[in-house]
Amino acid sequence: MGRPNLTVITGAHATGIVFDGRRAAGVRYRCKRRDETASARREVILCGGAFNSPQLLLLSGIGPADELARHGIAVRHELPGVGRNLQDHVDFVMAWTSKNTDMLGLSLRGGADMIRHILQWRRDGAGMVASPGAEGAAFLKSDPSLGRPDLQLHFVIGIIDDHARKLHLGHGFSCHVCALRPHARGEVGLNDANPLAPPRIDPRYLSDERDAGLLLKGVKMMRRILEAPALAPYRHREMYTADARSDDDLMQHIRARADTIYHPVGTCRMGVDDMAVVDPHLRVHGFEGLRVVDASVMPTLIGGNTNAPTIMIAEKAADMMRSA
Ligand SMILES: Cc1cc2nc3c(=O)[nH]c(=O)nc-3n(C[C@H](O)[C@H](O)[C@H](O)COP(=O)(O)OP(=O)(O)OC[C@H]3O[C@@H](n4cnc5c(N)ncnc54)[C@H](O)[C@@H]3O)c2cc1C
Repeated sequence: MGRPNLTVITGAHATGIVFDGRRAAGVRYRCKRRDETASARREVILCGGAFNSPQLLLLSGIGPADELARHGIAVRHELPGVGRNLQDHVDFVMAWTSKNTDMLGLSLRGGADMIRHILQWRRDGAGMVASPGAEGAAFLKSDPSLGRPDLQLHFVIGIIDDHARKLHLGHGFSCHVCALRPHARGEVGLNDANPLAPPRIDPRYLSDERDAGLLLKGVKMMRRILEAPALAPYRHREMYTADARSDDDLMQHIRARADTIYHPVGTCRMGVDDMAVVDPHLRVHGFEGLRVVDASVMPTLIGGNTNAPTIMIAEKAADMMRSA
């Protein structure tokens, strides 16, 4: 922050890219209810993530012509791949209630214990309060003959319902299972031309039967693990899926409740074909001085969590910019 050549503006919402012919010359943004422009002598780097980088390109007239026309945006450059190829780890979560209060939860006993946990954390930085919540993970093969895992578990020491938007009284644990290399492809578009409106996101989870079949296998494997004798002292009641025993029952639950474990990628895909948005140096096709550097450039979703690979993309991009 002390560098003389760095200015950080927070609370700003980028609303469009400014062009000088085919060169990106800056970014328009809204800050404290005022419209401002930041100009760029060399490059503009978009890093709004897999949902917002394609949105900003679309708002700037770069994308599929039909999507731009639908919102009355003039086509600056037709790039049919912008917003397409959305991939995400489709995920299903199971939860058990527990009479054991040594897990995250809402209860009188848990509240009283929390004081002890906070004191322990202040004393030695350990214990419940130091927990990341999602304490365990596993990579599984749905079939032993596979060369690499195709399922991932995330184990959480609390009850997860609707991404923890819905809270429950009491304690418990949850486990997620996700399909690591989904076949479904979704898309990001615009709801309207207002840059402050959220983008239109259609992940098309489970639109490919292979993903649904794999998730079903994963749910059964996960349940077998969670029903193991070692967890008996912690298990009380299975929530959501207790009534589901047959594959059809489980599939109904999967279709009703599966969604994301937060790993969207692919909507500004790197490549050299007609549907690619950025080239192998992450430069937007058809322009100078404009790169996308975030998870949206991944051509295919990796078989694991996406944060570290995104940081790696950024570090590689920094090297490419320095040597340009
Ligand atoms: C709840 C959650 C939990 C996760 N847990 C893990 C995990 O445990 N491990 C893991 O590996 N990955 C995890 N991920 C995924 C990981 O966070 C992402 O893969 C990673 O952050 C992607 O980086 P990015 O730079 O592409 O996008 P982001 O990190 O989303 O960064 C985009 C930034 O752009 C900003 N932005 C967007 N539009 C605009 C605009 N118009 N103007 C100004 N700013 C804008 C956003 O506010 C955001 O700060 C998790 C994600 C979520 C949502």
